[in-house]
Amino acid sequence: MTNPAIFSTVADLRAAVRDWRARGERIALVPTMGALHAGHISLVELAKTRAERVLVSIFVNPTQFAPNEDFSRYPRTFEADLDKLRAAGTAGVLYPDIGEMYPAGFCTSISLEGPATAGLEDRFRPTHFAGVALIVAKLLLQALPDVAIFGEKDFQQLAVIRRMVRDLDIPVEILGAPTMREADGLAMSSRNVYLSAQERAAAPTLHRSLREAADALLAGGAPATVLAKARAEVTAAGFALDYLELRDAASLAPLEALAGSVGRLLVAARIGKTRLIDNIAVTPRMSDAPKSV
Ligand code: AMP
Repeated sequence: MTNPAIFSTVADLRAAVRDWRARGERIALVPTMGALHAGHISLVELAKTRAERVLVSIFVNPTQFAPNEDFSRYPRTFEADLDKLRAAGTAGVLYPDIGEMYPAGFCTSISLEGPATAGLEDRFRPTHFAGVALIVAKLLLQALPDVAIFGEKDFQQLAVIRRMVRDLDIPVEILGAPTMREADGLAMSSRNVYLSAQERAAAPTLHRSLREAADALLAGGAPATVLAKARAEVTAAGFALDYLELRDAASLAPLEALAGSVGRLLVAARIGKTRLIDNIAVTPRMSDAPKSV
């Protein structure tokens, strides 16, 4: 097991990428905010099938957190992250400080519409995707990887990034990866560590409600009825619901009826101090295979 190279500056990262490229190696980037779990590692595993060199970035990006959100208490576990990345066979870790990513005088922003204004996460986190787009654009331009991997766990984020990369002609393939779950169905998340024992026991309701709703829709149930039942279940489990909706999987537009479209059920809900999101596919023939654009 070789130690991943740790880059704290963009210049060091670029020098290593240049060396790898000179040897004809392909490079995959997996952007993260650290506090790594098996979901992140599954992205690294997928990356290894697509490139000789896997780069993982660890950066808790302040611009994607609103002032009332959990930026300061977001879990930071660098040594444990590094152990996991070493075991997974990661070539390099970009671990910059805030000044490296946002130097004095930084004043550039990315303005988004389309999937970023679909009325899901953006309704509750209006500044979030501008921060995500900014940091992802920077990471992609810093590393210029052949492929970058993002989880379907953050489904709207994946759509925003795909659109941005296409619009800005960033020369990278974006690959979506399926959501890794705990045995009881709860989507793995760095934020799950915030949950009390009682909240953790309630948390799998999110996935169970989506699963049952997907089955009911595929059996011909009326979306309005199916969604109302799922929303009631989530609320009864102790969550304050932000949204639980059926959307077109490609455009994220509201879907009144399945009628042959590939649907996606998406949920966001708060329990105690923690906000959780999840989503699943609603397709007549469900496939979890990674999709490439
Ligand atoms: P984060 O560190 O939460 O910003 O996540 C970094 C990347 O890991 C994003 O592309 C996420 O969508 C992805 N990710 C987070 N949780 C999971 C999961 N349970 N399964 C697969 N990918 C995930």
